[in-house]
Amino acid sequence: MIHEKKIHSIIDQVLNVAKDKKPIAFNKKSVPHLVPDPKNPRYKKKKIDLSTLTDILEIDVKNKTCTAESGVTFFDLVNETLPYGLVPMTVPELKGITIGGAVSGCSIESMSYKSGGFHDSCIAYEVISSDGTLLNCTHENNSDVFEMIHGSYGTLGILTKLTFKLIQAKPYVKMTNLICDNIIDYNRYLNQHCAQKTHDFVDGIVYDKNHFVLCLGNMVDEAPYTSSYDREHIYYKSVVEKIEDYMTTQQYFFRYDTECHWVTKQVPFFENKFFRKTMGSHFLGSTNLIKWSKRLRHIYGLKKRQDLVVDVFIPSYNFINFYEWYEKTLNFYPLWIVPYKMPQIYPWVSPEHKNRIGKESFFIDCAVYGMKNNDTHVDYSKLLEDKVFELNGVKTLIGRNDYSENRFWEIYNKPLYDTVKEKVDPNHLFENVYKKFHPHRD
Ligand SMILES: Cc1cc2nc3c(=O)[nH]c(=O)nc-3n(C[C@H](O)[C@H](O)[C@H](O)COP(=O)(O)OP(=O)(O)OC[C@H]3O[C@@H](n4cnc5c(N)ncnc54)[C@H](O)[C@@H]3O)c2cc1C
Repeated sequence: MIHEKKIHSIIDQVLNVAKDKKPIAFNKKSVPHLVPDPKNPRYKKKKIDLSTLTDILEIDVKNKTCTAESGVTFFDLVNETLPYGLVPMTVPELKGITIGGAVSGCSIESMSYKSGGFHDSCIAYEVISSDGTLLNCTHENNSDVFEMIHGSYGTLGILTKLTFKLIQAKPYVKMTNLICDNIIDYNRYLNQHCAQKTHDFVDGIVYDKNHFVLCLGNMVDEAPYTSSYDREHIYYKSVVEKIEDYMTTQQYFFRYDTECHWVTKQVPFFENKFFRKTMGSHFLGSTNLIKWSKRLRHIYGLKKRQDLVVDVFIPSYNFINFYEWYEKTLNFYPLWIVPYKMPQIYPWVSPEHKNRIGKESFFIDCAVYGMKNNDTHVDYSKLLEDKVFELNGVKTLIGRNDYSENRFWEIYNKPLYDTVKEKVDPNHLFENVYKKFHPHRD
């Protein structure tokens, strides 16, 4: 089906559900990367079907840009661009993350220390508002929508088409893993390597308070061998064992996918070689793992709280403070470390919070993936949320959120959000971002 036809069908759906004046949710073809919460009213909401939006519309090799529909996954995208020797400037590590979800939900990865988040490589968005208007948004045209749709988590219209920049790529990645035994040295190496900008990729994993690894990657034309972490071998374990490694560029981008980082660690037989060989295709890989966790969400509902799955962006000047607190308070490992240079503090951050952050725009994303949060007396998610605020950081909204409404709008830019909201959501279909992520506070 051609893009225009798909758009008309989505607009028809929007106008149809607009009559009910009730918040809706989206149905994409690929799995969502939000932590399943059985109590979330999203499951009962009417859905707008976006599952047709999976086509790459143009790869402009000369100008190094790509135009694609919002439901294209990064896995499919990289498969299509790599034969031209090109890749997006930011490729989130899980195969099923879509380009629309990456903009709405603030995706970043190991190129983000130079290139920022995926949104920072975008040139134009096509957005459907709740009265069925089709908006073309760029830095010049509907610029408020263009800026604010980043980090709006589906509350400022439906992203249907994106144009974004590509960069030159090589077929292989050479990895060098630097190991050190304390946070002070680790922080120094991290800053040094990011300042030098000689690597294509920088991220890291902390295994415990004496075991830090900085993973440096460079694209190369040839490789003496290539490792694969699709089935038997486990990437996050290999980093400790190998000082040097080679992967195809495709393998590198999705190196964390088989384990969904290290979520498989929670089910010990998932790491068993025989199981992986015989049953891996049914259970391993982020898409399988997320589908299973969705099916089992009612069992998870028996837990006091969801497991902690969250990325927090800490200004680099507070990284050591944060880590020292984390080690004493949460002490959950592995902890994923992704340096992230924002080209500017984004307009969706409130002016007060910008003031608190100061001039710094270099952040360290600390990603906590899969910590149990069942203690009767302590809610670790809340402790983390408060600490991130105290250290002038920003927490993504992909998991549990406990902000009071006042605190939330101390971080997010309410006047600007409300202005754009009025423009794109006159029929109140997309919900307010505070309400959407705090359903239990109704
Ligand atoms: C276990 C886990 C691991 C993760 N690992 C990584 C990682 O390695 N790297 C990384 O960068 N990020 C990671 N993330 C975060 C991820 O990038 C974000 O959650 C991202 O938003 C997911 O995109 P998606 O395509 O799956 O969208 P979804 O999860 O389906 O949606 C995310 C948000 O975007 C909105 N949205 C989706 N599509 C549209 C659209 N077309 N128009 C408007 N709004 C839309 C949804 O309403 C929702 O609020 C992880 C998250 C989890 C839960």
